[in-house]
Formats: sequence, C-alpha cells, structure tokens
Amino acid sequence: MSEQFDFAIIGAGIAGASLAAGLAAHGKVVLLEAEDSPGYHSTGRSAAFWTESYGGPQVQPLTTASGPFLQEHGFLAPRGALTLARAEELAALAEFASGFRALGVQVDDLDRATLEARLPGLRKEWVAGAYEPDCCDIDVAGLHQHWLTTARKNGAELWTRACLAGAQRAGGQWHLTLADGRGLAAAVLINAAGAWADPVAEMSGVRRLGIQPYRRTVAQLELVSGPPSDLPLVLGIDGLFYFKPEAGRLWLSPHDETPTPPCDAAPEELDVALAIDRFEQVVDWPIVRIEHRWAGLRSFAPDRLPVYGFDPQVAGFFWFAGQGGFGIQTAPAAADLACRLVLGDGPGRVGPQPFDPKRFY
Ligand SMILES: Cc1cc2nc3c(=O)[nH]c(=O)nc-3n(C[C@H](O)[C@H](O)[C@H](O)COP(=O)(O)OP(=O)(O)OC[C@H]3O[C@@H](n4cnc5c(N)ncnc54)[C@H](O)[C@@H]3O)c2cc1C
Repeated sequence: MSEQFDFAIIGAGIAGASLAAGLAAHGKVVLLEAEDSPGYHSTGRSAAFWTESYGGPQVQPLTTASGPFLQEHGFLAPRGALTLARAEELAALAEFASGFRALGVQVDDLDRATLEARLPGLRKEWVAGAYEPDCCDIDVAGLHQHWLTTARKNGAELWTRACLAGAQRAGGQWHLTLADGRGLAAAVLINAAGAWADPVAEMSGVRRLGIQPYRRTVAQLELVSGPPSDLPLVLGIDGLFYFKPEAGRLWLSPHDETPTPPCDAAPEELDVALAIDRFEQVVDWPIVRIEHRWAGLRSFAPDRLPVYGFDPQVAGFFWFAGQGGFGIQTAPAAADLACRLVLGDGPGRVGPQPFDPKRFY
C-alpha cells in the first residue's frame, strides 16, 4: 500500500514551496522535487526584484498585493526602478507611466537633467525616464527558505530526488510513480513544475496548455568604479536591457527571451556579448571583467498570464504554473489565491478570473 497524502505538489521552487506552506495547515502535503535541492532552477537564478510594472497591468494586482507580506517579513530592501527612453520612444514611455499611474502605482516623470544627476555617464540619446520609487530588491533565498520551513513545521514532507514519472487518476485518487520506482497516492495533484509544467500535465493524462520556457541571461560585471550602491534598477522602455547593483557588482541582462525545451539552462556567449553591447550604449562605465554569468528559464502561457486553478477536464489536477518573469514578486498573493482555490475558500484580495485555466478550453 503506497503512502497517502491529501496534496502532492510537483516542484519545490518558489511556487511549490509557497503553496506547501499554505496548504500544510489544512492537510497532509508532500512536495516532490526532482533535483537534489529545491530552488535549483528558475527560483535560484532570478534577478531578485519586486517592481509593480513588471509583467504588465494584469500581473500588477498580484505584485502589489504581495508587497505587504514581503515588507512585513523583511524580505524587501529599497531599490527604485528607472525606465529610460530615447526621443523616439517618448510616446511609449508616457503610455507606460500613465497606464501604471492609473492602476495606483507611483511613477514619476524624469527629465534629462534629473537623469544625469541620478546616472552620471548616461549617453546623451537617453532623454527621459519614468521612476518607480517603490521598486525593491527581494531576498529570494530567505523567502524560499521561509516557506520551506513553514511547510515543514506544519507537517509537510519535502522529498528531493523525487522526479514524477507518471500519474494516473483512479478511484478518486492520484497514483503517482517516481522515476526511481517509488509510488504514492494523493487526492489532489498540484503542478508547480515551472518549465516542466506541460510535460507534468502530459504524464498525468492532462492536456498541455502551451506553457513555453524562454531562456534569460544575466552577467555579473566588475566595473572600474562603482556601481553606486544607490543605483536603481535601470531598464529600457525598448525592453532590451536591465541592470542593477548587487554587492558592489553590476547584474546586467540583455532581456533575452529565447524559446527552449525545459532544461538546466546555460548562458550563451552571444547573449552575454549582446548584453555588454547594449549596456555600453546606455552609460560610459568601463568594465573590468565579466565575473560570472548564468541563465534561467521564464515560462509563459500563450497569453503571458499565469495559470492558477483546477483543470476543467481532469478532476483533482491543479495548475500553478506560467509564472514567467514575475514568479517571485507575485508569490505571496499567488499562493494565497491558489490556496483558496484548492480549498474552495472564499475570494481573497486578487480574483481568480484572468488566471483560470478554463480560458484555454
Ligand atoms: C534570469 C531570471 C531573472 C528573473 N528575475 C525575476 C525577478 O527579478 N523577479 C521575479 O519575481 N521573478 C524573476 N524571475 C522569474 C522567477 O524566477 C520565476 O517566475 C520563478 O522562479 C518560477 O518559480 P517556479 O517554482 O514556478 O519554478 P522553478 O523554480 O523552476 O521550480 C520548478 C521545480 O519543479 C521541479 N520539477 C520539474 N519537473 C519535475 C518532476 N517531474 N518531478 C519533480 N519535480 C519536478 C524542478 O526541478 C524545479 O525545481 C526571473 C527568472 C529568470 C530566469
């Protein structure tokens, strides 16, 4: 007789860990993680920022609603976010700023003189900026650990090196088989497998939703001087770069988005070179060397919104996937919403509607 759980969660990244913490008080939870340690994939590779405009207007309510939890638990540190525009991009910048202001996000317009004071060495073609003072850095490892610890305290089991290989629904239960031959049973199967969300659905007899992983690259640079520790997160309205300071170094991304099968993502030299080239078109800060580079996967549903809810065709299969490039900053509100949906509780601060998997059927 295989061990029996109420909830089996596949994937112990930020998504699985946050939901395990919420559900463990309500039933017997097992968190199955294929790797040796949780957080090895996307969660351990993020750029660690919380900024309300990132992910677009329909993701913003999840990010904003997550702010108080992250703040109260000490997981945020002030950073600020500055989106830059050239003369030909002023209309796009104005639309961006007014759109998010209308949603209640603080966005201040900056002219060239103010930009120069904030970003010495800024190339002359960058003429305007939109500044979000509320943007913060997130202590991702601390947040992830907080949820894993809470889950364990509430009785959840974390099984590492536990790769789901197949799942069948029979007699109102899921019968799960792991790659090493172990078996277990659960009433509800929760798909928090990140880049592997579609394969996990398929091996459970559930229709794929077209959740596509995309590679994103980050390079850590040593600069001749700086960067200033109060440098904000700097992004282009063109969506072609961002950079921010991190412990005396600079984290730089070319904002790449290369479709790839789910895998242990590695950076490509071409993407790192692209990042440097774009950076040099923004500021005149000489680079000493590239100290470190990495890549991770950001997984999106076809409409680029996350997928939270029970599958409409297969009983007991819950989607908690498609967190794209905002899975950390939205995690507290997303976990609250998902817990309510799994348990059949009343509505929370953020409604389920735009995220319901039924939209794909
Ligand atoms: C470079 C980069 C920068 C980013 N920056 C930010 C940022 O600044 N702010 C932000 O909010 N977000 C950011 N993101 C996005 C964020 O990292 C992701 O949205 C988030 O980590 C997704 O979490 P997850 O738990 O869904 O996925 P993951 O962390 O990938 O976890 C999924 C887990 O499922 C496991 N798994 C898969 N298949 C199986 C199976 N069959 N059996 C058992 N386990 C399985 C995997 O091993 C993996 O550990 C960034 C992402 C990248 C790549």
